[in-house]
Amino acid sequence: MKKSDESLGRIVAELKGKKNVLVATHVFPDGDALGSQLAMGNILEGMGKKVFYYSEERISHLYDYMPGCEKLESRLPKPAVFDAIISLDCGDCFRLGEALEDLREIHPFVVIDHHSGHKEFGDLRWIDPNRSSTGEMVYELAVALGADISYEAAFCLFTAIVADTGSFKYDCTTASTFRVAGELVDLGVKPYDVARKLFDNYTTGRLRLLEAVLGTLEMHADGQIAIITVTQEMFARTGAKRDDTEDFINYPRALNTVKVAIFIKEGIDGWIGVSMRAKGECDVAQLAMTFGGGGHRNAAGYRLQGSTIAAVRTALLPELLRRLAAKGL
Ligand code: 5GP
Ligand code: MN
Repeated sequence: MKKSDESLGRIVAELKGKKNVLVATHVFPDGDALGSQLAMGNILEGMGKKVFYYSEERISHLYDYMPGCEKLESRLPKPAVFDAIISLDCGDCFRLGEALEDLREIHPFVVIDHHSGHKEFGDLRWIDPNRSSTGEMVYELAVALGADISYEAAFCLFTAIVADTGSFKYDCTTASTFRVAGELVDLGVKPYDVARKLFDNYTTGRLRLLEAVLGTLEMHADGQIAIITVTQEMFARTGAKRDDTEDFINYPRALNTVKVAIFIKEGIDGWIGVSMRAKGECDVAQLAMTFGGGGHRNAAGYRLQGSTIAAVRTALLPELLRRLAAKGL
């Protein structure tokens, strides 16, 4: 038996008898995080359990069409009386948000994740970096639980998989990913419906923001590195929101010479966010970890307080160039 089968088996055994479960994911949830959380909750509700959907902040308007979003709550009940918690798609417990200490009081603390740089936490862990997405894992858990998967849950899981595989394009996409996606289509999901919601959602402001951001493109190391940036002034000028920058990094990533694409984002209150995407052999998760972040080999990031775009570039670029030269990325 593989270690992953063993952890899945233990999680199934633990969850079966539980009645009151909290489901959580990382702050600023992306499609996989939110889709996995909502689907997991829906599946557990279908098994007759009471579910609390915890999310620190309101979720991105890019994902608020997902069935179940209206159930997300940002305040934990006091006392937080749950007989299990499931953390989904979260590679580092500190990304669960400010309620971390309260969440840690809940046991068993089940962790399901696929980040390669996963930092272990919780009581029962199923961590598999070979999975395309946490959504793919939640599907397998539902099957192992013998649970019914509703259309709503299937829709959320398909969205999760499409989001984390870049529409079945990234390196993480496997035959198993397609098999799970096929099962979800059999359950009634129309890929076209998901694609329309996920991708055909631009406002004029968002397109204007893209125009401004692409204007910042700079190339380094003979075209191997591309950097784009966004400032608060660009948001103000275009009327677009922070979430609207989602997927912009795929434009510099698409350049034929690029090995690593970087997107430096000026946030509010002195925060700077950095997203990185790599192709092939490059491992940006390691690089992100040296700056306190994490992620996957080909998609990673970090956040810094009290910095500037210029300072981030000055710190990051030499480190990246050094690793590219040493092929140590
Ligand atoms: P994105 O660039 O889309 O925000 O994130 C890409 C990947 O890197 C995601 O898997 C995300 O979980 C991870 N990531 C982004 N920012 C951080 C961070 O600040 N800390 C950690 N541990 N992972 C991050
Ligand atoms: Mn994910």
